[in-house]
Amino acid sequence: MRVIVCENYEEMSKTVAKLVASQLTLKPDSVLGLATGSTPVGMYNILADMCKNGEISFKEVTSFNLDEYYPISPENDQSYRYFMNENLFSKVDIDIENTYVPDGATIDPKAECKNYEKKIAQAGGIDLQILGIGKNGHIGFNEPDANLNSQTHLTNLTESTIKANSRFFADYDDVPKQALTMGIGTILRARRIILMASGVSKHRVVSELLAGGINTDIPASMLKLHSQVILVCDKAAYSSERLGVDIGGTETKFGVLDENNNLIYQETIPTRNESREVLIDDIVNKCEEIMKEHTITGIGVGTPGIIRNGVIMNIANLPLSGVNLGSVLSDRLPVPIEVSNDANCAALGEAMCGEGKMVKNIVMATFGTGIGGGVIVDNKIYQGRGSAGEIGHICIEKDGRQCGCGSKGCWEKYASVTALIESATAAAKNNPDSILARLYEENGKLSGRIIFRAMREGCDVAKAVFDSYTDYVVLGLKSIAYVFDPDMIILSGGITNAGFEFLNPILDKFDLDVPVTISSLKSDAGVIGAAMM
Ligand code: PGA
Repeated sequence: MRVIVCENYEEMSKTVAKLVASQLTLKPDSVLGLATGSTPVGMYNILADMCKNGEISFKEVTSFNLDEYYPISPENDQSYRYFMNENLFSKVDIDIENTYVPDGATIDPKAECKNYEKKIAQAGGIDLQILGIGKNGHIGFNEPDANLNSQTHLTNLTESTIKANSRFFADYDDVPKQALTMGIGTILRARRIILMASGVSKHRVVSELLAGGINTDIPASMLKLHSQVILVCDKAAYSSERLGVDIGGTETKFGVLDENNNLIYQETIPTRNESREVLIDDIVNKCEEIMKEHTITGIGVGTPGIIRNGVIMNIANLPLSGVNLGSVLSDRLPVPIEVSNDANCAALGEAMCGEGKMVKNIVMATFGTGIGGGVIVDNKIYQGRGSAGEIGHICIEKDGRQCGCGSKGCWEKYASVTALIESATAAAKNNPDSILARLYEENGKLSGRIIFRAMREGCDVAKAVFDSYTDYVVLGLKSIAYVFDPDMIILSGGITNAGFEFLNPILDKFDLDVPVTISSLKSDAGVIGAAMM
């Protein structure tokens, strides 16, 4: 299948109109197979203009339309006969007697279908067939099914097609539930075929068509059996630029990934969390702004908190508790939206584009205020019922330190950066002559960076604190390794910027054969993973 990707709908319409015009120039008495739907309307308008200007003529053309609702009268303004008269036949010099659309008013659909095939054959077969594609991969009304019909036939429409087409009818119940349609064989007998696709709503089916094999679940994939097929689509249907949003307590990151998963655009805005409305408006506005510059086919959002049935719960510091963010954003943005926990997104980003890109199963542990976790199985986020991956709450100490989650002895109370700083601060106070105590005095507080500096300056107190800290880190990592046996455990969070100073003491104590490494995407992992969803 040859593919022509056009900048937008107008360019796609012009490109196909030119191909049809050259067909008519080469063979004025061409037999054209024509399609209805919103996709070819622009192309028909251009052909009408070309005909008016005398560039082409339809005088000797015979046309056969792909399909027609059943039952429907040709006078009904929703019939495909009416559509063709309105959008093309009345605007060009075609002889209406040579235009064929299956008769939706027939009392004998079987005979009508047989007769339709006969008329196509008598006309010498179709020279050029124009096709649109349904979101479910249908061509004509050949809907996804284990059995596809080869000849023109009466068919039942699928629920998704009835829903898609209901936009043209006053009421959903007015949409006919059956149609007469050319079969896959009828279409494949055409000498040349042009498949048109436009808009983000067709992106999923176009990418499945191009990436996948021949499969009756996507009837358009049958076109791969034909040697003269051109897919002409616009960037919105073809491109796979995706937008990731990573909502954090203080800032929200936006990033655009291209089809090769390169981060081609990045922007960060402060998270204004004074109210839910302000926070959501900021996200929607920035997404809309980015969508003006990029052909975005989907948006993934990573948020703190856990997500149950789409609703955000257990979220501190942000006014999103109880919000179904996916549905709120879907109401305001015109592309598919996925929402997941931010640590899950970071794990997905790292698994697909970072350290884990050569493997399929990883666990990522993010060390910060607490310990966040994400589990990736077969390159997909494992969410459980919505909150899997909360590894920070593995219990490592019976009746241990009280955790904010209500339990005691959670891993993050011992192995988070907060825990490290608390132990180091206590040790500095207990050892006023130590280097650590001096650095504490000088800075007014301790941080991961200062603790590493103390160790580098030879502070035994800092080394003892870090040694005990890494014991706890390793305890949790071993539990993770035993439960998941992943291809890799990836560590992330600001403290991992210390590199081998952080990692080596852990590796010295970690005696299982699961590789443990540090994130290479660093703070971009979240936004990349969100976009990957
Ligand atoms: P559309 O329909 O052009 O209105 O998107 C195409 C089709 O369903 O075949």
